[in-house]
Amino acid sequence: MEDLLPKVKGMAEKHIAICEEKKVDLLVTSTFRDFEAQAALYAIGRTKPGHIVTNADAGHSFHNYHCAYDVVPIVSGKPYGRIECLMVHLYQNGKL
Ligand SMILES: [Zn+2]
Repeated sequence: MEDLLPKVKGMAEKHIAICEEKKVDLLVTSTFRDFEAQAALYAIGRTKPGHIVTNADAGHSFHNYHCAYDVVPIVSGKPYGRIECLMVHLYQNGKL
């Protein structure tokens, strides 16, 4: 969470708190990824074995810019269902 931009971190905390109020615990599985980490993920299902996990190559993911986080609900102490990616659009007219 510390790797997110302050504005994004604030939104993520609010999101998690709202889910907690509804008795849904969220596990944050990923926040910032550098280009190298993004390229490694992008390779899965393409040049490396496995199922495709991302459509974004290095430099094309919100994760590369501290603007995205991935969460999965925790049910009975275990991650349940698929990981959801939350991306925050911070820029308007080219400004933060
Ligand atoms: Zn994501």
